[in-house]
Amino acid sequence: MRITIIGAGPGGYETALAAANKGIEVTLVSAGPLGGTCLNEGCIPTKALCRAAEVLENCRQARYFGIDAAEPSVDFARVMQRKDEVVEQLRGGVAFLMKHKLITLLYGKASFRDAHTVSVLGEDGSLWEVTSDFIIVATGSVPASLPISGADSEGVITSTDILSLEAVPQRLCIIGAGVIGLEFASVFRSFGSEVTILEYCKEVLPRFDTDLAKRLKQSLSRRGISIETSAEVKAVVSRGDGTSEVQFLKKDALSSVVADKVLMAVGRRPALESLNFDDLGIGHNRRGVAVNAYMQTSVPSVYAIGDITGGMMLAHAAIFQGLRALNHIMAGQPSEGCVDAIDLNLVPAAVFTAPEAAMVGLTEDQCKAEGRACICKKSFFRANGKAVSMGEPDGYCKIVADAADGRILGCHLFGAHSADLIHEMTAWMNKGATLDDVASMVHAHPTLDEVLQAAVHS
Ligand code: NAD
Repeated sequence: MRITIIGAGPGGYETALAAANKGIEVTLVSAGPLGGTCLNEGCIPTKALCRAAEVLENCRQARYFGIDAAEPSVDFARVMQRKDEVVEQLRGGVAFLMKHKLITLLYGKASFRDAHTVSVLGEDGSLWEVTSDFIIVATGSVPASLPISGADSEGVITSTDILSLEAVPQRLCIIGAGVIGLEFASVFRSFGSEVTILEYCKEVLPRFDTDLAKRLKQSLSRRGISIETSAEVKAVVSRGDGTSEVQFLKKDALSSVVADKVLMAVGRRPALESLNFDDLGIGHNRRGVAVNAYMQTSVPSVYAIGDITGGMMLAHAAIFQGLRALNHIMAGQPSEGCVDAIDLNLVPAAVFTAPEAAMVGLTEDQCKAEGRACICKKSFFRANGKAVSMGEPDGYCKIVADAADGRILGCHLFGAHSADLIHEMTAWMNKGATLDDVASMVHAHPTLDEVLQAAVHS
């Protein structure tokens, strides 16, 4: 069997590897560097910056722990160089994995010829034609912008551009308090920027639990980040001296923020222009390529996974969607029934602010909206021995469970290492566990995981 995979982000390269390990011949086509957005201009470089910011904050807090250290300063060039080294190292790792004898890697831009064939235009002008039994599209997304005046002016940068800044902007205005906006706000505040966030919705992280979002907002505000919610950005005006004025409407009054850089962080959109979907009649709309539960498009031999489908724009979602597509192919493309045990509705998400936030499953608001009776169990990091010992008392845990049988429906965490802690609850939820199940599992003491146990006991 042969499969062509278009796009070498985590969705594409992990699926390529999984397919090759099952004995399938794979052609992986990449228009950009291996690793896609996640590795080159998303998750990984951002996490390298988060870690630098964390080291800086730890140095600043040294005195509190009784450690005398010199006042830290930021060598931003070195911070960025280390970030590049991390990316380079991991890209080398992916390149090594792609040396699999059943994987052929083509660098170039793919376009559909028919339901089984793509042509690939290489960077050097060479043209290949690849025919396979199935094609999996994993071409990702690009930063979205606002249809407002000045959105493309010089001082306005994307989440890609901010990763190659040469200096820390003195004043950074961020449009959008979603995941990207908050992560960069947290990092650049640590590096010394005066950060203002303008968010259209009435709370930050609109897709997260409202309590969690409120607490995260308070915590970021205490760190000196100015956050304006219910603020609709209307225009960005270049002031001629390299600075920009961001004009926004709040409570019917026009206000503005002056900044050296303006980060546009209002979401990402599927990279639909990257392929000729219409020529093949692959169903899609503005929000992404339409797929069924098996990640199959309207053309049976073509699958789409990851950001291009417009769903959860998360690297790990793309990886597991790729596995689902592969499992469907391996099972002979059944039109109904399970092809694997992956639950694509149970995808944890994490925000790498300081402190971190993470969630899995339903929020309390979603349960209410669905008319589903739920109970919420809560605990606080300030009552957790490990968190207090670590000097990280700022944190909160909310577990949402079905009021009738105690089955866990969701977990929402804010506090140190939330991005790691969320997996315990994801595992429980994967097994359909109840609050009683969590309560009866012995948790080691003192650990942060005990916030979960404390919540179910509350
Ligand atoms: P997002 O959708 O998470 O947030 C965009 C924010 O912009 C929203 O809060 C929205 O209300 C706001 N907004 C929209 N129009 C606005 C306006 N006119 N004025 C002010 N605010 C406005 O998008 P994002 O943060 O750009 O991230 C893009 C995608 O990448 C998301 O799907 C995200 O989950 C993913 N991502 C994930 C991670 C992670 O898992 N840690 C990190 C980065 C990005």
